Amino acid sequence: MNTLLLPQCRCSLSVAAVFALAILPALTQTAPEFTEIRPLTNKEVRLQLNAPAGRGYRIDAATNPAAWSSLVTVTSSANSLAITDSAAPFLPARFYRAEQLSLTNLVAGDHVPTLQGDVVIKPLYHASTFLRWNGLAIYVDPDDDASYEPTYAGLPRADLILVTHSHGDHFSSGKIEALRQSHTRIIVPQPVFTSLTAAQKTNAIVLGYGGSTNVNGITVEAVHAYNSNHALGTGNGYVLNIGGQRLYFSGDTGNVPEIRVLQNIDVAFLCMNTPFTMTPNDATNVVRTMRPRIVYPYHYRNQGGTTTNAAYFKQILGTDPGIEVRLRKWY
Ligand SMILES: [Zn+2]
Repeated sequence: MNTLLLPQCRCSLSVAAVFALAILPALTQTAPEFTEIRPLTNKEVRLQLNAPAGRGYRIDAATNPAAWSSLVTVTSSANSLAITDSAAPFLPARFYRAEQLSLTNLVAGDHVPTLQGDVVIKPLYHASTFLRWNGLAIYVDPDDDASYEPTYAGLPRADLILVTHSHGDHFSSGKIEALRQSHTRIIVPQPVFTSLTAAQKTNAIVLGYGGSTNVNGITVEAVHAYNSNHALGTGNGYVLNIGGQRLYFSGDTGNVPEIRVLQNIDVAFLCMNTPFTMTPNDATNVVRTMRPRIVYPYHYRNQGGTTTNAAYFKQILGTDPGIEVRLRKWY
């Protein structure tokens, strides 16, 4: 394996130090190469990569080049890729490297390191999320909207499915049937259990607030999720412990005290669409109390169809709390 060191970025010094290393796999003719490393005004870093189309790439980052962790796996459909490192504002230095991957069994998504390898996070649509960890395929609120079916292309069938509540943008018995295998466990609140098929019910686990279970080494705890549009006791949020990382999926909820006090959340997926769930100000209030390490705004398309809440949330939260906000393509 050859290593190519590129010059330090020529941009402003708003980030303490930014470096790039491009990694050339031994058998390929063309190396992925960073063509731009640009600190943004909010101190995040924009990376542009010369990346031949039709291949996969993994971008790694480090504050110390002796200790790398992966940021993201991406596939290239053009000949260049652009990603934004939203953790950069909170770190004293950033080194980057890129590696070309085989497309076989590749799952594109963000990486979060755990005690047993990375969990890879792939937004699918609205509240639908795919997680890959330790050889397991986990779906949260898989939706059957035909417009977004291509986001499921190439993904493995489920080992674990979680459903937060019975509304059509979160629950589809047909989609569960398409994703499930004979061993797949399905975690649901009671009203969703009632709507499962007989075969699905045999592998379902019903959880209410405070209830928890363990599936394939993943601990799942049901937490409160309710507001004036979602009656208390009918839907769940979930906290997953995946290899020591605690991932919180809000489902549909308001800014309620039970979620503000959730402890030790590493990654929070927070709903924020009006008038159905939280406003961006509600979500900001939740985050400032909960203090997750990373936040994904999701479920943010408003009644009128606008999808500006996620960016507005990130803007009003700012960088002062030291919380990384990842804006991703959910629509
Ligand atoms: Zn919803």
